[in-house]
Amino acid sequence: MTTPLQSAAGRLAMVANLDLSGVMRGRSVPAIRTAEVLADGLPWVPTNIMLSALDSIPAKNPFGPMGEVRLFGDPAKKLALPARADRPALDLYLADIRNMDGSDWMMCPRGQLRRALQALEARGLTLKVGFEHELYLTGLQEVPTAAFSLAGTRAVSAVSDEVQAILATAGTRLDQFAAEFGNHQFEIASPVADAGTAADHAVFAREVIRDVALSRGLAVTFAPKPDAAQPGSGVHIHFSLWDSAGNPVTAHSGALTATAGAFTAGILKHFSAIMAFTTPTPNSFARFLPSNWVGVFACLGERNRETAIRFCPRRPGNDARHAGASLEFRVADASANPHLALAAIVRAGLAGIEADLSTPPHVEGDPATIPQDERTHRGIASIPTSPVEVLEAADAVGPAWF
Ligand code: GLU
Ligand code: MG
Repeated sequence: MTTPLQSAAGRLAMVANLDLSGVMRGRSVPAIRTAEVLADGLPWVPTNIMLSALDSIPAKNPFGPMGEVRLFGDPAKKLALPARADRPALDLYLADIRNMDGSDWMMCPRGQLRRALQALEARGLTLKVGFEHELYLTGLQEVPTAAFSLAGTRAVSAVSDEVQAILATAGTRLDQFAAEFGNHQFEIASPVADAGTAADHAVFAREVIRDVALSRGLAVTFAPKPDAAQPGSGVHIHFSLWDSAGNPVTAHSGALTATAGAFTAGILKHFSAIMAFTTPTPNSFARFLPSNWVGVFACLGERNRETAIRFCPRRPGNDARHAGASLEFRVADASANPHLALAAIVRAGLAGIEADLSTPPHVEGDPATIPQDERTHRGIASIPTSPVEVLEAADAVGPAWF
């Protein structure tokens, strides 16, 4: 409802993207400035990319108060948040961060992913990706949310309806909204798309759920382990490889191809470094419990939810989205920036292809039940248990990847 004090000039447009800890940050302007701002960009502070999730400026920071970059909203990535009782509508544009001369700034997450995908394309390959997010949504009227139940689905139906309507304004949707294992835990799946689009739409999905939850007085958290007694919330990244003619190259006749095998081996080899971009907060590590479907062993398994990478073969022709098969990277969470998470996975996979690594063996059953000495003998490594280990591994590969 419009009151005499509201005006068209009061309505805002925001130009933003996620920082290194997965928090959306940007600048907002009166919507009447949109055309000018999309063309010219907005001033941005380099340090803002690395504010912590708790809003502090890290002491070890290469930029400090220095420097200047610009935020450029992508006109093709616009989400229209509708007006609510006391909040006017707002258009949100996903942003690239560029240098003053218009070139990609080295820390821009969307730019990092673009460059990683270009390197993959130079090898004649493209990637299709689907993001799944788990989350806790509390405050819903119908309290019982038994896993995968009708009651759980009904409890979240109104939220889902509204989320879908808003995502449609950006040309996307959710492919699933289900009641998960935890009490009040849900899972959403974003549609499979080319890797860049999938990351953009994963960002929109998170932000829309937050916005809808807030407007309905609900509490939502995507935190990796908000409650020690409940299952954690992971982000599962499904991907498949394709050649430049659009043929699937992940698997043939139910087995990984040599290309996908080398890509997977590269991911396993650089697993600790990747984790700096897929599970970047201390709370990420609270989720890493064996035998909890997290995948705390850096190995490959077929249809196995206890391995960090799950190979999911499909019947021929039964799923055009990931024809033949997909691989699922399970050790990610929503404190990650989806663009950087994917960029790290692609860089590690490419390193595996470049080194011509052989396809890793499939591990059957829960690796936690395999005696430690046998695991060591078979090269089944536990994933790191401390952020320091992960950061050291990332430091070692960082210059080559980013
Ligand atoms: N909630 C589990 C996790 O922390 C995953 C459960 C599932 O496979 O859906 O990753
Ligand atoms: Mg799940």
